[in-house]
Amino acid sequence: MDYKKYITEVKDYPKEGISFKDITTLMEDGKAYKAAIDEMADFAKNKEVDVIVGPEARGFVVGCPISYALEVGFVPVRKAGKLPREVLRVDYGLEYGKDSLNIHVDSIKKGQKVLITDDLLATGGTIEATIKIVEELGGIVVGIAFMIELTYLDGRNKLGKYDVFTLMSY
Ligand code: IMP
Repeated sequence: MDYKKYITEVKDYPKEGISFKDITTLMEDGKAYKAAIDEMADFAKNKEVDVIVGPEARGFVVGCPISYALEVGFVPVRKAGKLPREVLRVDYGLEYGKDSLNIHVDSIKKGQKVLITDDLLATGGTIEATIKIVEELGGIVVGIAFMIELTYLDGRNKLGKYDVFTLMSY
């Protein structure tokens, strides 16, 4: 499927010079959304994934339906102050700004195989932080799946040793 035709490019959002790739128009189309999720689930289906981990909020949009398709659990990674129980926290830099990611400390068991999901790979900062938090809990990252990769930001460079899947490249 030509997924790109469902993505809206928004110029100068959230600030000047950034061409934002908006996946909500893909999500609005049930067939395109399902095809995208099915293809991502297909990438992961032979990896014996125990659990899927996705960063807030679009990592949920991608990860939760894959979790449903593969019948494995989903663990949310969230911004500070959103998770109710004891968390592990890592700080990271974004394409535009700085933030921290948090995960429940008991959500991943040592040795579990983890698929990480997000909508988009830009500089790779978010996913690098997500990998770090998963590995600190003893999880083994067996794959990382994105809908979109911005190749000109070279985020893949940070993910050299991991099995990375993307549906679309810009
Ligand atoms: P990175 O950490 O620089 O790789 O940025 C990726 C994160 O920022 C992802 O969680 C995305 O949801 C978000 N992001 C950055 N640029 C875009 C964009 O053009 N469209 C949608 N999300 C973006």
